[in-house]
Amino acid sequence: MWFRRDLRVRDLPALAEAATGQILPCFIFDDRLISGGRFVSPARVSFMVDCLRELRASLRDLGADLLVRRGLPEQILPELARDTDANRVDWTADVSPWALGRDRRVEQSLGHDGVDCHRHPGSYIVDEPGVIRSGQGTPYTVFSPFAKAWRTVERRPVEPVPDRLDLAGQLDPGLIPTLEDLGLKAPQDEVPFRPGERAGREAAHAFLEEGLASYADRRNSPAGGSSMLSPYIRWGCLSPLELEYEVGLESGDGPRVFRSELAWREFYAAVLAEFPEVTEREFQPRYRGTLGWQHDDELLESWKQGQTGYPLIDAGMRQLLGQHWMHNRVRMVVASFLTKDLHLDWRLGEGWFMEQLIDGDIASNNGGWQWVASVGTD
Ligand code: FAD
Repeated sequence: MWFRRDLRVRDLPALAEAATGQILPCFIFDDRLISGGRFVSPARVSFMVDCLRELRASLRDLGADLLVRRGLPEQILPELARDTDANRVDWTADVSPWALGRDRRVEQSLGHDGVDCHRHPGSYIVDEPGVIRSGQGTPYTVFSPFAKAWRTVERRPVEPVPDRLDLAGQLDPGLIPTLEDLGLKAPQDEVPFRPGERAGREAAHAFLEEGLASYADRRNSPAGGSSMLSPYIRWGCLSPLELEYEVGLESGDGPRVFRSELAWREFYAAVLAEFPEVTEREFQPRYRGTLGWQHDDELLESWKQGQTGYPLIDAGMRQLLGQHWMHNRVRMVVASFLTKDLHLDWRLGEGWFMEQLIDGDIASNNGGWQWVASVGTD
C-alpha cells in the first residue's frame, strides 16, 4: 500500500483492499516534490511530516508499520515488491498532471516485474474519472450544472478501519526525516492546526456539533465561521465522503451550503483532470497571452509581506505568512487586489499561495485564482 496524500486509516479503499492479505504500507519522500518542484513549501511539508508520524503510530497499533523511504517511487516500489514478493500495489488515485505522470511511470516499472497496480477512490467524494458528464458526454465547465449532477451520483459505502494488519516482510521501517534532513528550513510559526487523522476527526466533530447549523450565515465572515477543515481534507486525514455522510444528505441551510463547498473542491479537481493545461495557462483561450500584466517586484513584495497599506489585504497576507491558512473570502479579496488593482499576473499569486498554504492544493488553488482573475471556468 503506497500512501501519498491520503494519510489516514479510516475510510481508505486502497488500505481496505490491501489489508485483505499481507501488507507493506509505505511512504516515499520524493525530492522532486519536496524540495525541487514548482511549489516548495516548508510549512506544508512540516504538516505532512507530523501527519506521517501519527499515521505510523496508527498502523503500528493495527499490527503493521509505515515503511519510509526517500527517492524515486518508480525505483523504490519495484525494489520493495521484490524484497517482499508482493504481487500488487494499491494506492489512492490523484488528479494532478504531475502525479498522473509519476503514477504511469510507477505502473510501467512495476508492470515489467509482473506486479499489478490498483488505483482506488478516496481523495474525493465522487472520484470515478469521467462519471460526471453532461448529456452530450462532455465535461462540465460551469459549477452549477456540475454540482447538480454530482449530487445525484451514488456514493460508495464508507470503509471501516481494518481490524488488524498483517505486516509483510521484516524490512527496516526507516526514520521519518526532519525538515532539515529534507533540505528545508523548519517554519517557526504558530500554525492553528494540530496535524493528523485524530486531530482532523476532532475538528470535524466540533464543527458538526457547533458550527454546521450556523455555517450558512457565518461562513462569510473573515472573523470565523467556516469549518477550517481544509488542511485535513487536503492531506487525506479526513475522508471527504465520510464527512459528507456525517453532514447528512438532508436539507437545512448549513448542511446544504457546506456540501456545496465540498462540491467546489470536486469541481476544480474535475476541471484539472479534464483540462490539465490550466496549470500553465488560462482556462479561457481568449485570455491566453492577451492580458497586459504589469511587472513590479516591489508591489508584489509588498503584497506578499502584507505591507500594502490596505488593512484587509494586509491582515489576510500576514495571516498567510504566520498561520499558513486564510479565510476563503479573504483569499478572494487578496487575489482580486493582486490581479485587478495591482495588475500583476495571477500565476504570481498562485505560486505564493502554494508556497505558503498548508492546504495548498493544485486543483483548488489554480481554480480559485483563475476564477478570481476572471480567466477560468464559470
Ligand atoms: P469551508 O468553508 O469550511 O469549506 C469546507 C471545505 O470545502 C474546505 O475545507 C475545502 O476542502 C472545500 N472548499 C470550500 N470552498 C472551496 C473552494 N472555493 N474551492 C475548493 N474547495 C473549497 N482550498 C484549498 O483546499 N486549497 C487551496 O490551495 C485553495 N486555494 C485557494 C485560492 C484562492 C485564490 C481561493 C479564492 C480559494 C482557494 N481555496 C483553496 C478554496 C477555499 O478558500 C478554502 O478551501 C477554504 O478557505 C478553506 O477553509 P475552510 O476549511 O474553513 O472552508
